[in-house]
Amino acid sequence: MAANKTDLMEEIFTCQRCGHCCHGETTVSLDEEDLRRMVDYLDMDVEDVKSQYLRITGNVVQMKTVDGHCIFYDDGCTVHPGRPWRCRQWPLHPSILSDYANFSAITSSCPGLKIDVGYEKFCEILKGLMDEST
Ligand code: SF4
Ligand code: SF4
Repeated sequence: MAANKTDLMEEIFTCQRCGHCCHGETTVSLDEEDLRRMVDYLDMDVEDVKSQYLRITGNVVQMKTVDGHCIFYDDGCTVHPGRPWRCRQWPLHPSILSDYANFSAITSSCPGLKIDVGYEKFCEILKGLMDEST
């Protein structure tokens, strides 16, 4: 029987909840759909969400940071269902498939990735997961 998506995912990634990906002085950028989802999830006025939680520089919309982490981080993501798509995608970024250097860089910043699987097998599973979601 074919493995289901969760089983396949666990072959290459199990989040360790270390919080590393939510730390730093910048965050991922939000697109319009991200903003809509976040506003819906927070159930707030869009202008209030922008002023309280977002850092807008020209066309670039990011989340504010506080004490070196995303404003929504508090021992985990406090807006998990409303988080931006780039947060949802991390750390299984498609660039891993195109270049071992990307795999190496991403695995060095995310302890949840299972490098013991080996690059070739890792890519095979990741590609299968991506094909399923399109
Ligand atoms: S860096 Fe990786 S293991 Fe740590 S919280 Fe983020 S996704 Fe999970
Ligand atoms: S929205 Fe959530 S997952 Fe994304 S950086 Fe902020 S705390 Fe982390």
